[in-house]
Amino acid sequence: MKILKSVAKRVIGYDRLLQLRRAGKRWIHFGLARFCPCCNARLRRFTPFGLVKRQEALCPVCWSLERHRLMWLYMTQKTNLFDGNQKRMLHVAPEPELSPLIQKADYINYLSADLFAPNAMVKMDITDIQYPDNTFDVIYCSHVLEHVQDDRKAMSEFYRVLKPGCWAILQVPITADTTFEDPTVISPKERSGCSDNTITSVDTGPTIRIGLWRQASRLRLMVSCAS
Ligand SMILES: [Zn+2]
Repeated sequence: MKILKSVAKRVIGYDRLLQLRRAGKRWIHFGLARFCPCCNARLRRFTPFGLVKRQEALCPVCWSLERHRLMWLYMTQKTNLFDGNQKRMLHVAPEPELSPLIQKADYINYLSADLFAPNAMVKMDITDIQYPDNTFDVIYCSHVLEHVQDDRKAMSEFYRVLKPGCWAILQVPITADTTFEDPTVISPKERSGCSDNTITSVDTGPTIRIGLWRQASRLRLMVSCAS
């Protein structure tokens, strides 16, 4: 099967193969009960996903999760991101479910960045961003800060490179009523003993980030559940 897929990729091309796959999935999962705003598929249902399976989580066509669909709706309906005006956007840890959608807008000068991910355009340490002050009109960074040891420095860097009057969405998962903080938990092995989104070597609770948000009024904070 792997060999067949590899041959198909070479002969047909990855993008065309992806289009064909999605067309097939749209037909297989077609229904009127659900709608995915990321790929505009009409579905019978979303499929279960997660270590602890969440029902109605994954779009079988574009693989978007609940948080991707929510963010896409928020960006398209509640922000000025797609108003047609030229803007420069930084997308940290670019999700493949959202990145291509944003890049379709040719008036957005889009830059994706990550410390490790090969699909990002540039390598970036968000505690030491290699761009001058007031560079970006929009910053989007989802489910990253909870994994950064010095998240306060990362927040100050976002503030520095964001133009005055512009905005950022910094989304972090909130999975408990109280903050779990243990600065000694750093290595992947230690972190594996905790849930993916609540483990951290830094503060993941809402209090500090809301405080920083008020101080740095350009930053808009969003918190979310783990999904
Ligand atoms: Zn979809």
